[in-house]
Amino acid sequence: MKRSALLLHFRTLALFVLMLLLSGAVTLLFGAEGEGSRPMTFFSVWALPRVWVGAILGFLGLVLLMTRKATAWVRFAALVIIFLAFSVVPFLPWGKFASGMGLHPSPMCSVEKPLMFIQMGRSVPIIFISILGFILLMTVIANKLFCGWNCPIGALQELLHRIPLPRGWKGKLPFRITNAIRIALFLLFVALLFGMGFSLYAWINPFEFLHWQMEWAIIPAFVITFIGALFFYRPFCYLVCPIGLLTWLAEHISILRVRLDKQACTDCMLCVKKSPCPTVPSILEGKKSRPDCHACGACIEACPENALKFK
Ligand code: SF4
Ligand code: SF4
Repeated sequence: MKRSALLLHFRTLALFVLMLLLSGAVTLLFGAEGEGSRPMTFFSVWALPRVWVGAILGFLGLVLLMTRKATAWVRFAALVIIFLAFSVVPFLPWGKFASGMGLHPSPMCSVEKPLMFIQMGRSVPIIFISILGFILLMTVIANKLFCGWNCPIGALQELLHRIPLPRGWKGKLPFRITNAIRIALFLLFVALLFGMGFSLYAWINPFEFLHWQMEWAIIPAFVITFIGALFFYRPFCYLVCPIGLLTWLAEHISILRVRLDKQACTDCMLCVKKSPCPTVPSILEGKKSRPDCHACGACIEACPENALKFK
C-alpha cells in the first residue's frame, strides 16, 4: 500500500478514535442511565437486533460493493429487504427480536430528541447517543453505509425513484441548493427549539409512517418524501434529514468509498448518465468535498472500464 494511502487510513482511524472518545464524553456529560434493574450502557444498546441486523446488512452491502456485485437487481432486492426488516418485522409476532427491530429512536429522532432533552434541561437517555454513535461508526467505516444499506426511509425513496415516468420528468437537484436548504432547516430547528420550545422536525418526520400511524406530520413529510421521490433521488435525505447532514459531514473521513482510477477512465460519462445521484461528477473531478454518496453502486456498475471501485 502506498505511503499516502497509509497516511490517509491512519488519519481516518485517528479521527474515528477521536469520535468514539467524543461519544463517550457526550455520554458522560449529557447521558442518563436506562430504566430497569440493569442500566443501559453505550455498548449494551448495540445488542438490540436493529443494531446487529443493521451491521450485518451493512457488511453484506460492503462486500457487494467491493466485489462489484451491487448490480441494479441485487440493489433492488436489498432495498426491499431493508425496508421490510425495519418497517414490517417490528410488527410481526416474533417476540423480543421483533420489538428489538423497532426504530425507537428513529434516525431522525436520534438528532432531534437529544437536543429537545438538552433544551428542557434534562439528561439525554443513552440509547439516543448510542444509536447516533452506531450511525456515525457505519458512516466512517464506509461512505453512508447506514443511509445506503440500513435506513428504511432511504430505501423506500430509492424504490419509488425507480418507478418509470415519461422522459424528462426525473431530474437531479443542484447539491449546493439542497444542502443550503438542509443546513438552513437545521439552524431553524435549533433556533425555534431553543427560542420557543418548538420542534420543526416533528412536522416533517416521515419515520412516523413506519409506526403505521397517520399523524399530523403526514402532509409535509408525505409530499417531500414519497411524491418527491418519484421525480428526484432521495429528496428527503438531501433536503431535510439531519442525519443526512451529519453523515454528509462524516463521509468526508470515510475509510471506504467510491474511488476513481484516473488512468482507466476514458471520460465517457456513462457513470454520470446512469447514476441517479448528483455525486459522480465530483468523484470524476477528484473533489475533496462532494455531494452525499449513498453507496448505491450504480456508477460502479455503469463503468465499462472498471475505473470506479469501492475501496
Ligand atoms: S438521510 Fe435519508 S437514508 Fe439517511 S437517515 Fe435520513 S432518511 Fe435515512
Ligand atoms: S463510466 Fe468509467 S470510464 Fe466512463 S467517465 Fe465514468 S469512470 Fe470514466
